[in-house]
Amino acid sequence: MKRQNFRCSFCGRSKDEALILVAGIDGHICENCVDQAQQIIDEEFNTDKVEEDDFVLPDIIVPKDIKKHLDQYVIGQDEAKKFLSVAVYNHYKRLRQGIEDEIEIEKSNILLVGRTGTGKTLLAKSIAKFLNVPFAIVDATVFTEAGYVGEDVESILSRLLQVAEFNLGATQRGIIYVDEIDKIARKSDNPSITRDVSGEGVQQGLLKMLEGTDVNVPPQGGRKHPEQKLIKVDTRNILFICGGAFDGIEKIIARRLNTQIIGYNHKKTERIDRDNMLQYVSQQDIKSYGLIPELIGRLPVLTYLEPLDAKALRRILTEPKNALIKQYEKLFELENVKLTFSAKALDYIVKKALEFNLGARGLRSICEAVMTDAMFEIPSQKDIKEFHVTLDYTREKLGRSKLTKLRVAS
Ligand code: ADP
Repeated sequence: MKRQNFRCSFCGRSKDEALILVAGIDGHICENCVDQAQQIIDEEFNTDKVEEDDFVLPDIIVPKDIKKHLDQYVIGQDEAKKFLSVAVYNHYKRLRQGIEDEIEIEKSNILLVGRTGTGKTLLAKSIAKFLNVPFAIVDATVFTEAGYVGEDVESILSRLLQVAEFNLGATQRGIIYVDEIDKIARKSDNPSITRDVSGEGVQQGLLKMLEGTDVNVPPQGGRKHPEQKLIKVDTRNILFICGGAFDGIEKIIARRLNTQIIGYNHKKTERIDRDNMLQYVSQQDIKSYGLIPELIGRLPVLTYLEPLDAKALRRILTEPKNALIKQYEKLFELENVKLTFSAKALDYIVKKALEFNLGARGLRSICEAVMTDAMFEIPSQKDIKEFHVTLDYTREKLGRSKLTKLRVAS
């Protein structure tokens, strides 16, 4: 029988030249062409997702709607909510604008300044939830300049990719919250003395990403290595919200305000509210604190969070949609027990949280200390149908808890 000389129908290689020829109905394909075809599919797959992505911010959503949503989860912080709502609204308006337009709307990345536990992360998280976009939280302190031990700034995007389950289109319109941005402030005012591995270098690394560029990202995070397949992520439409406590910035603000007042010789100077200096924060103060001007320029929306007073903490305990007290009530309800708290008990919890000076974060640990015994006992006592937490009970449980040793000096 005559040996048929099959060839790859794509590249023309003969059966002798190819390792393998896979037969189809009317033709053949060699292993090289299978490989190439796979690459084309992979590339198409990624870009397809971006193009197919049909995300639109519904027209009816205006900044006021965004704020109303935030009000359900975050107590107070009206100023920050307003700034955020407008910035997010503009950001997604820009996303819809298309590229051809002559006037290009700039990205409105946001910088939140506020003490720990005042709701910075919660605000960012609540915005992402509302928009139903992927959201990742990263900590600026883990980054170091490329080439040094630590994570590359690109790993920020790996995190977002993972959250978006590697849907590139979704990733490219997600929101990233960069926490502790103040910790990468330049340590000294003179940028040229030594290399500042964890400070200025990292800020430089963040610049392009914040502004919008194509970044090759190792999908699993960590350091890039040569064999790893990288995914190209375009950051132009990713919204960055950066947050930090900027400890000590009040002094910088005060100094600036004082010199301004002297300089302008105001007859009628506005009274400065010394208890809440952050409300006067300006880009200039952030620069004096040690963020480089280029980075500040890429975070054009600057706003602050108020310190939480007793009234706010009390509301945080009971009002938000998933308020702590509501969560405990739910947990007890699942055991068929009606849980109630006396107003005095709640006031006492707030008083202790203020003493701990941890913002709203303190509330959680205090409630746990108060409630743990009850949560331990009640599931095995089927006859209990109601449980009332009184002031005395709260005092007793907290008195015995190790928590009281945690008190932070204010
Ligand atoms: P930050 O990022 O400012 O350090 P978080 O947003 O992580 O603080 O707040 C810690 C926790 O405290 C949140 O999970 C939330 O339950 C609560 N919390 C803080 N601020 C508020 C607020 N303004 N309204 C409601 N809950 C708050």
